[in-house]
Amino acid sequence: MSAAGKCDVVVIGAGIIGAMSALYLQADGRSVTLLERGDVARGASHGNAGILAFPEIIPIPAPGIMKKAPRWLVDPLGPLSIPPAYALRIAPWLWRFWRASSPQAFRHGLKVQTAMMQLAAAEMQRIAQMPELSRFISTTGTLDLYDSEASFNNAASHDWQEKAKAGFNFSCVGRAEIEQLQPGLAPQFRHAMYTPGGLQVSDPYEFTKAIADLAASRGVEIRKGEAVRVEPAGDGAIVTLAGGKRLEAAKGVIAGGAWSKALSSGLGDRLPLETERGYNTTLPRQSFNLSRQLYFNDHGFVVTPLARGIRVGGAVELGGLDLPPNYRRSEALLAKAGRFLPGLNTEGGSQWMGFRPSMPDCLPVIGSSKASPAVVYAFGHGHLGLTQSAATGRLVSDLVCGRSPAISVEPFRPGRFA
Ligand SMILES: Cc1cc2nc3c(=O)[nH]c(=O)nc-3n(C[C@H](O)[C@H](O)[C@H](O)COP(=O)(O)OP(=O)(O)OC[C@H]3O[C@@H](n4cnc5c(N)ncnc54)[C@H](O)[C@@H]3O)c2cc1C
Repeated sequence: MSAAGKCDVVVIGAGIIGAMSALYLQADGRSVTLLERGDVARGASHGNAGILAFPEIIPIPAPGIMKKAPRWLVDPLGPLSIPPAYALRIAPWLWRFWRASSPQAFRHGLKVQTAMMQLAAAEMQRIAQMPELSRFISTTGTLDLYDSEASFNNAASHDWQEKAKAGFNFSCVGRAEIEQLQPGLAPQFRHAMYTPGGLQVSDPYEFTKAIADLAASRGVEIRKGEAVRVEPAGDGAIVTLAGGKRLEAAKGVIAGGAWSKALSSGLGDRLPLETERGYNTTLPRQSFNLSRQLYFNDHGFVVTPLARGIRVGGAVELGGLDLPPNYRRSEALLAKAGRFLPGLNTEGGSQWMGFRPSMPDCLPVIGSSKASPAVVYAFGHGHLGLTQSAATGRLVSDLVCGRSPAISVEPFRPGRFA
């Protein structure tokens, strides 16, 4: 804040997207207030799997997905669920998701994600080189496991061809190599892809906190408070807090994750932001000798090695922000992990549920509000917020500073569903 109590930018939300945006804006010479209603990194950025999933360029809304979905939905504890209490409310989002799975929309999404992931990898490399942050990122490699040759060939081969075209390195491995790369997997796993460059964040909460701390050490003000309204004022923006205080700034950035809809609605943007709730369990480190990230592709969950333990989780529950968590989902995933890794000790874990902020085309919203270029949106990163956080910080700072963005933000424009 300047002596007049006005800063250049107020960033709303101190998850990984808000923290990274604040860091980039500060590096661009802006005075920044990072506003958070709770504690830093207590939203989706707290307990995710910690994967920097740059090769994940394949859009989730893919041709044929709506045929597979009913099979998943039959199992109430399967990889995809819709609580009956939320079924009607999610219908318009699902309709848009279906539209995003047309062959043409899929090809567009693939192109956009490829460009975004290239930027994401390059920007995260810059982050990884910072002495305060380098210890959080390591190369563990990723093993993508399939239940059968048929599943590997049918479902996955097209995806891997696209990843190869985009320049990612991986190799097809059989049972003997699987055993070497990760001893202790159940014998059914005879087909896998190994990505040696797979990157892991040691702890997503600690990483996000370290970014916010670094930003604070460089002058960003971290302020506790809940934004209830954002509005344009002259060339700038005013953020009204619960309790009535008002923060004036030249620019406002809304990075409130899955909770961003109320603020953007107040600015006249009716965005189809929903949440894909995800579940996991973090087991003590000694529960299993885990060498690297394991993706169980036919079951929609991952097992990742974190500094604090082994995290088993994933799944998608389209259940909105208010329904209570159903931790039977965490238990179902853990039970499966116990079958797939017979030596895994499934006792003593802690459960978590997080709200992925998700748009129906699985692309984030990065761009100016309809009401004013002084308010910039940065939310809706779905399954990939940690992965795309540094790229988003860069793009937000480009937009706020009036530079031509590092990649086109046209595909991320808020009005694309209007
Ligand atoms: C189970 C699971 C596993 C995942 N695994 C991965 C993974 O391995 N790799 C990956 O890249 N992504 C992963 N994700 C996705 C990733 O966690 C999210 O995309 C990312 O954390 C979103 O970050 P965010 O900053 O937008 O939101 P959040 O982290 O939710 O932060 C939003 C913040 O804004 C604050 N806020 C909201 N409204 C206001 C307001 N009005 N005033 C003040 N503050 C406000 C909230 O309190 C919160 O702190 C996973 C998600 C889940 C659920």
